[in-house]
Amino acid sequence: MQFRNLKMIGYVVYGRGSFNQLDEILAPQRKGDSPMIFLVDHFFEGKALPNKIPLRGKDKIIYADVTFEPKTKQVDALAKILKEEFGTVSGIIGIGGGSTLDLAKAVSLMMTNPGSSADYQGWDLVQLAGVYKVGIPTLSGTGAEVSRTTVLTGPERKLGMNSDFTPFDQIVLDPDLIKNAPANQRFYTGMDCYIHCIESLEGTFLNEFSKSFGEKALHLCQEIFLGNQTWTEEHDEKLMMASYAGGMSIAYSQVGVAHAISYGLSYLLGTKHGVGNCIVMNHIEEYYPAGVAEFKRMVEENNIDIPQDICSGLTDEQFDKMINVSLGMKPLWENALGKNWEQIMTREKLRALYEKF
Ligand code: NAD
Ligand code: ZN
Repeated sequence: MQFRNLKMIGYVVYGRGSFNQLDEILAPQRKGDSPMIFLVDHFFEGKALPNKIPLRGKDKIIYADVTFEPKTKQVDALAKILKEEFGTVSGIIGIGGGSTLDLAKAVSLMMTNPGSSADYQGWDLVQLAGVYKVGIPTLSGTGAEVSRTTVLTGPERKLGMNSDFTPFDQIVLDPDLIKNAPANQRFYTGMDCYIHCIESLEGTFLNEFSKSFGEKALHLCQEIFLGNQTWTEEHDEKLMMASYAGGMSIAYSQVGVAHAISYGLSYLLGTKHGVGNCIVMNHIEEYYPAGVAEFKRMVEENNIDIPQDICSGLTDEQFDKMINVSLGMKPLWENALGKNWEQIMTREKLRALYEKF
């Protein structure tokens, strides 16, 4: 048995207002006059948050267009611009949801690694440490702040740059930054965390390490998303820690059925990760009976719309494409259904599921 030797993030600061410590956190990481680059979710353009960014010298804010989930060519273009303008930079600071955090991680890696980010989609292909990188979430749920991957859509596949060089050197968890997220978006991203917990806790890869984080994250999700509550600052604090713990749980296990199927939707239809997982979760009671029942209660009590009928009218070829992408996620299926998963999740069975969405 080969145990995973887990590379973790470097430093964590947690607390309401901790964003204000960013200047002093960055100071020792500055290399000469090479700038810090703040990659900020475009949602914040023209809002108050950018005014609080501690710009020094040649530092620059770049707004990240996250209308679509990150693409390898978007990463390559950003790294190219920075290399042309500055040669090198002191660091990349991603401020935003999971998409912006993934972009920041990937751009940091592509400041030092040659070629295209598409060359590194896979496991342990990245050869060199990137530049110093910081993750500052403004949505909570994906666990991208703690993970060793950065999910990218490339010319051939949607797959992360999974490597020991991928985790952030520093994360700043400030619950104030997530407080104005719209209810639907907060729910979709929050459910990513809930689903990570169900998939980890119900999976065959489960161990005490994953279980201890997964159970805590699950309880936090239940505390905030059940019981018809009014959302408060305390809910933001709990959601932020649920995301962290949920991410730690899957770091030492794996996700499962909902993620494997939703990857197909996002590859073909561009469905975003959080809402895609919700669309799938609505229909997979066969695999996670208790989790799906509770998920449906959460949807109802929080008055959330889950899109329906997104697959009606697709051609056989399109269904095949989604099925191929999904069945390619081998570790996810193995975690969910065991070593004989290929006998259980046949192409016909998966097609029947996609037809329900
Ligand atoms: P997101 O980053 O895609 O953002 C969703 C929307 O919310 C965007 O329009 C964004 O502009 C907006 N937004 C961000 N912060 C906001 C705020 N505070 N208030 C209002 N709007 C805000 O959403 P997400 O669910 O956080 O992330 C999904 C992405 O994360 C996907 O690209 C997925 O592949 C990736 N992901 C990565 C990992 C990982 O381990 N690296 C894990 C899960 C998901
Ligand atoms: Zn996820």
